[in-house]
Amino acid sequence: ARHAQDMQDTVVRAQRGNTRTAKGWIQEAAKRMLMNNLDPEVAEKPQDLIVYGGRGKAARDWPSFWRIVETLDRLENDQTLLVQSGKPVAVLKTHELAPRVLIANSNLVPQWSNWEVFDRLEKAGLMMYGQMTAGSWIYIGTQGILQGTYETFASAAQKHFGGSLKGTITVTAGLGGMGGAQPLAVKLAGGVSINIEIDPTRIQRRLETRYLDEVASSLDDALMRATQAKREGRALSVGLCDNAAQVLPELVARGFTPDLVTDQTSSHDPMWGYLPPARADEDLNTLRDRNPDEYLRRTREAIAGHVQAILELQRRGAVAFDYGNNLREQARLAGVTDAFDYPGFVPAFIRDSFCEGRGPFRWVALSGDSADIRATDRALLELFPEDARLQNWLTYAADQIAFQGLPARICWLGYRERDRAGRLFNEMVRDGRLSAPVVIGRDHLDAGSVASPYRETEAMLDGSDAVSDWPLLNFATGVASGAAWMSFHHGGGVGMGYSQHSGLVAVADGSDEAEKRLQLCLTNDPAMGVIRHADAGYGKAVSVARERGLDLPSLER
Ligand code: NAD
Repeated sequence: ARHAQDMQDTVVRAQRGNTRTAKGWIQEAAKRMLMNNLDPEVAEKPQDLIVYGGRGKAARDWPSFWRIVETLDRLENDQTLLVQSGKPVAVLKTHELAPRVLIANSNLVPQWSNWEVFDRLEKAGLMMYGQMTAGSWIYIGTQGILQGTYETFASAAQKHFGGSLKGTITVTAGLGGMGGAQPLAVKLAGGVSINIEIDPTRIQRRLETRYLDEVASSLDDALMRATQAKREGRALSVGLCDNAAQVLPELVARGFTPDLVTDQTSSHDPMWGYLPPARADEDLNTLRDRNPDEYLRRTREAIAGHVQAILELQRRGAVAFDYGNNLREQARLAGVTDAFDYPGFVPAFIRDSFCEGRGPFRWVALSGDSADIRATDRALLELFPEDARLQNWLTYAADQIAFQGLPARICWLGYRERDRAGRLFNEMVRDGRLSAPVVIGRDHLDAGSVASPYRETEAMLDGSDAVSDWPLLNFATGVASGAAWMSFHHGGGVGMGYSQHSGLVAVADGSDEAEKRLQLCLTNDPAMGVIRHADAGYGKAVSVARERGLDLPSLER
């Protein structure tokens, strides 16, 4: 009967605490994380099952959601649930150390992998867009991307501004689930930011969660607040409710050049994620419904103007970089032939970390008690006393970041670090220092888990940008190494046809079985980053592989 009900008004929130209704902690963790993804504190549009990133969903529809929940509750400790684009399709007998859930989202055969085909299948109820951590149930709200965004801006500061963004202005757009991390990240790096966002409710949300300091009433007002803060060397974030496709060209026209310029609108999904400028009396939803081709033309035209403005700001001295939303490619499709004249953020700032298998490691306290996260913060500070970036991050994050949904933490750890952290958490659950099990996972945006030629694997040294054997090997390695649940997705942050990527989640419940699973999967998963980059010829990855004892048969000894 519940399936027949209209579930749109249901508020979903994960259970907290140390007692479970499922038959094992992995099943319980999967259920709570699925629900946590849709917690109104966490999800961008929970009533539509949309978690973040345009239309990234946690389950295909509400009946599928409830069937997944019910199935996880009855799933035995030697069974595996299969989920196909957000719909539970089978329960199989496997074995104790197998993943309890295997997920495949949004995958299409290459020749068919475009938005047109996907949209048709989605409309027919046959698929959903999984984004990265939406459909794999390990999204933790905006904090999840905060440290990655901080790492990016801190690297930009290192490379271009003598180590700090103090006295600089960054102009960006998009204050959605991920983009909402930008104002705080720039602030953590010492700088001032102007954040353009067309939807006032998104601005409000970032103000409430303390990711954004203040909102300007107009572009003039935003520029005044920003330049004053820059002059005073004060870190500040300013929101501006407007359309980036209009504001950026306006900055060019006025002769205002920021120090940095980037963008995190959902332009990877031009039909739904990027709004073209509209007349006050115009309803864009109606236009999209009635004349999708015209809508798309308008969007691409807007993106073309937006990117041309970024290119002009770059020529005038701004540090411009693409922030992983495929904006440049949309502009190229609209005829901007030099759209790729500014780099993506991975080759510009992040690849060195990937060579060490370093990437976004995250964990969630199933107790619901933020004291558990504080305890893990302290434990990691002790475990990695020599890691200055981690020390800064955890010390700062500990009292600055508002939790959304189940308390969670993120920090970047590399190969031979994540397994140590995971086993430590397991010990802490076992001896009662943590009051309930902990879920450990990561973004699909990681060192060795994704093929995405305009983002994570842009401009690889050996030209292997589009080779997606690597994320498939990563998925299979996680399955073979005792992950709690694994996922393989297509599209993610850059859209249909542009990426394939895999996700891993593990659970620390204090048991010997968890110890074994954590040791294997949290060693082998980040190893894929080192392996992938060593194979592509990155010297740093080769030396990490040698120093940390990876056995790579094709590497000259
Ligand atoms: P989201 O859909 O939650 O937010 C996008 C925001 O952009 C929305 O609030 C929307 O109102 C706003 N917007 C759309 N068109 C606009 C316009 N013309 N002017 C001003 N605002 C406009 O998405 P998200 O989760 O914040 O992700 C944003 C993008 O960043 C996605 O493309 C995503 O794939 C990408 N991304 C990048 C990274 C990274 O690390 N670089 C990570 C995750 C996601």
